[in-house]
Amino acid sequence: MYPESSLQQNHIYFENTYAFTVMTQVIDAGTSEHGDWLTLQDNIFHPQGGGQPGDTGTVDEVAVRPFRDPQATEHVVRLSCERTFTVGDTVSSTVDANARRRHAALHTCGHVVDGFVRALGFRHRVSNHFPGQARIEFDAGEQKPDLARLAADVEERSRKAIEDDRKVFAREQDGLRIIGIDGMHEDPCGGTHVESLGQLAGFSLRSLKVKGGVLKVGYTVEHA
Ligand SMILES: [Zn+2]
Repeated sequence: MYPESSLQQNHIYFENTYAFTVMTQVIDAGTSEHGDWLTLQDNIFHPQGGGQPGDTGTVDEVAVRPFRDPQATEHVVRLSCERTFTVGDTVSSTVDANARRRHAALHTCGHVVDGFVRALGFRHRVSNHFPGQARIEFDAGEQKPDLARLAADVEERSRKAIEDDRKVFAREQDGLRIIGIDGMHEDPCGGTHVESLGQLAGFSLRSLKVKGGVLKVGYTVEHA
C-alpha cells in the first residue's frame, strides 16, 4: 500500500510550459534515505525522464529537485528539499524559467529532427535532450546513407518547419499524452514543449554519423 497512489496531483507543466510560479498546497511530505521531500497539489516541476533533464526551482525559496515516485501507481512528482514542510501548508513554488525554456526548446526540436529522420526510413532508438549533448539515435540497419546529403536534407526540412512556425499540440488518447507538431508525426511524450516552432532559435545540426549500425544525429537550439 502506498498512500501516494491516492494523491491526485495537478500537473500544470503538462498544460503550460510557461507557468513558472504557482501558489499551492503541500499534500504529502516525508523523509527518505535521500532526505526530506514534499508533494504539491499543483505541480509545475518536470522530473528527469524521457531524455529530458529535471527542472530545478524553489518552494518558499528553499531549493528543490523533482523526482518521480517510482512506487506510486499514478504519476506523482515529489520534490526533494532541504527542510521539512507540513501537509496543508500553502507555499509559493517557482521553476527556473531559463532552464525550463531551454529544455522545452531542445526537447521540441528533438521531435522535429526525429520526425524528419524517421520519414527517411530510420527507426528511432533513443533521445537525449540535455543541453550541449542533444542527439537522437536511430537504427541504421544495413543502410549506408550519404551522410552529408542526409544532414543537409534533415537540416533544411527542420529549418523550414521552424520558419513556418508550425504549432505544437497535446491531446490525450487511451490515458496517454500524445504530442504532435502540425503536419508531422505524433508521439506519446511526457516532456515540456514550446507552443509553436517559431519559438526556436539558432537551430543547427551538430553532427550526423553512423557507428556500429546506429545513426546519431546531434543538434543544438535555443529558446527565442
Ligand atoms: Zn516531447
